[in-house]
Amino acid sequence: MSNIKSVATLVVGGGIGGLAAALALAQRGRKVHVIERAPEFKEVGAGLQLAPNASRALARLGVLDSVWKTAVFPQQLVWMDAPSGEHVTSLDLGEKFRGLYKHPYIVMHRSDLLEALLQACQANVNISLETNKHVIDVMDLGDAAEARCADGSAYRCELLVGADGLHSVVRSALVGASEPVCSQYVAYRGTIPMDRMSTHAGVDNVMMWTGPNMHLVQYPVRRGELYNQVAVFRTYNYVPGSDDWGTQEELVRRFADACPDVKDALTMIATNRRWPLFDREPIREWTRGRIVLLGDAAHPMLQYLAQGAAQALEDTLALADAVAEHEHDLARALEKYTSVRRPRTARVQHTARIFGEIIHMEPVGAEVRNELLAHRPGDEFSAVNWLYAA
Ligand SMILES: Cc1cc2nc3c(=O)[nH]c(=O)nc-3n(C[C@H](O)[C@H](O)[C@H](O)COP(=O)(O)OP(=O)(O)OC[C@H]3O[C@@H](n4cnc5c(N)ncnc54)[C@H](O)[C@@H]3O)c2cc1C
Repeated sequence: MSNIKSVATLVVGGGIGGLAAALALAQRGRKVHVIERAPEFKEVGAGLQLAPNASRALARLGVLDSVWKTAVFPQQLVWMDAPSGEHVTSLDLGEKFRGLYKHPYIVMHRSDLLEALLQACQANVNISLETNKHVIDVMDLGDAAEARCADGSAYRCELLVGADGLHSVVRSALVGASEPVCSQYVAYRGTIPMDRMSTHAGVDNVMMWTGPNMHLVQYPVRRGELYNQVAVFRTYNYVPGSDDWGTQEELVRRFADACPDVKDALTMIATNRRWPLFDREPIREWTRGRIVLLGDAAHPMLQYLAQGAAQALEDTLALADAVAEHEHDLARALEKYTSVRRPRTARVQHTARIFGEIIHMEPVGAEVRNELLAHRPGDEFSAVNWLYAA
């Protein structure tokens, strides 16, 4: 029993969601301890798009100044047809967009965002951080919760926040263990120095090239010094439980009918690691007693709306607001938090799946879609307003 450490609030997982949650709660006066499985706080992967709902959250977390030092502010989201190389439609991110949403659309390296959050956590006296702590089980004790780690250590707290991502152990304790849903799509992604991109479709824009069952996204990150690329395609060789699908050879085959700009870009994409893409169905059980979920642990989604991290950031503020409002009644605070966040994130999870189907349409459907989108003005924001204005 002596090996149980007591903390006020325990955050399990030190990714974007976990560090932002620590910050949001600590800024409202709560003592927070973050435990992370990995030896250091680190992000894998490459770029992140952060829509105004995300940059608004970062402003409230007080990290926008440090984020702006490395972020890039694209002028447009440009949708191109990958087979023909023709323009489909754009979304202008300029003056009208900023006037409407008050916060910019930014793109940045994941590790730059994590570093900004980490530095803010390290500077906050209410936050302590620990790595190499792999949580293997959590328990609700009524007016407290407990987390046990693989190294035999344990933590008791009055509030336990599960921010441990797609394969969340905390979530398993609430709803039972289950595998996430495999979309049978896979991503290859990475950044390269900007000067290695001899041709590109625009360093000022986020480019999305779509074709049947595949797409490529490109944008600059880190002050424009690096170019981020994400190639995504559907495998035709999926075997449950196997890793032998979505291979590098398949990547080349699936993009065989793409235009030269896209094929050139693919020659510069990192192929040493592949990311199978998963989500889960929305669940009702985000809390039990003093345990609560946020980010991918609560609502993992396909990345087609570029909203997973944005929704995690929104979660952290909603949670901190609810806890501050009902400081002496945590059950009520968690009820308030889930009632605000569950419907919105479920909508984003579902819409991400639908948008994935729209961008990956087969040729005949894609032709009709492109024709319909061709006449949409770039400064027409009704399709994204529900997402960005919140
Ligand atoms: C290809 C791709 C592109 C994407 N693009 C975007 C985008 O442009 N914009 C956007 O907003 N979102 C995007 N996302 C989604 C975004 O990356 C995630 O939604 C976001 O990172 C989730 O953050 P999180 O903190 O909830 O989870 P995670 O980032 O998964 O962090 C969980 C943390 O918990 C730790 N952990 C896990 N288990 C344990 C344990 N048992 N004990 C202790 N620690 C543990 C992990 O090591 C990790 O540090 C994209 C996702 C993919 C796959």
